[in-house]
Amino acid sequence: MICIELSKRQKQIIEIVKENEPISSEKIAEKLGMIRATLRPDLSILTMSGILDARPKVGYFYSGKADMNIFQQEAEKYLVEDVMKMPVVVSEESSIYDAIVTLFLEDTGTIYVVSDHYLAGVVSRKDFLKSMMGGGDMNKMPIGMIMTRMPNIATATKGETIIDAANRIVTNEVDSLPVVEVEEIDGKEKLKIIGKVSKSTIAELFVNLCKQ
Ligand code: ADP
Repeated sequence: MICIELSKRQKQIIEIVKENEPISSEKIAEKLGMIRATLRPDLSILTMSGILDARPKVGYFYSGKADMNIFQQEAEKYLVEDVMKMPVVVSEESSIYDAIVTLFLEDTGTIYVVSDHYLAGVVSRKDFLKSMMGGGDMNKMPIGMIMTRMPNIATATKGETIIDAANRIVTNEVDSLPVVEVEEIDGKEKLKIIGKVSKSTIAELFVNLCKQ
């Protein structure tokens, strides 16, 4: 898709056309308090990009194509760090029972597991259910036994766009990504967990963008 950055005036023109279509260029200029010649380049861009339809002797119509572009433009402004939430973290030695209690107390669907303060694994609701089906003493079994381990964890970084993170959530078919920062410890790369982006975070942003 071709994405064009619309100017403030072009957005104003789109709003005027939406509310008054069909409308002539003279009338648009009048509403903006400008002369028609000033608007000519804007109207050319808007018709050439297909956002407005121009019909001779009738006026301008709104084609409906602009909304998607504006939505995409707005969404692309958000970085992971703008919307990330606090992660829920337990240590690898915690029992499965304690981790389930944490899941309820913190009202979350995914728990991140750390070993020596760095990301070691992820445990989701399905992992807990699977562990119960296998029997065993939940008070004695450590969370490390059932977690999805590094390096098989999809992560996000705070500086990337939320659209990139959302794509990774979809591609990996997971509910959330830990937001991490790389630290080098004894020549090895370790991941420090600084946040979380989840399907809920993205749904919230989606609703806010729709309200705008
Ligand atoms: P649910 O259990 O609610 O379906 P998910 O879809 O997030 O939750 O988890 C499905 C599986 O993917 C689980 O085994 C979980 O450990 C694993 N998982 C969850 N998040 C990630 C991630 N960011 N990277 C890799 N695996 C993950």
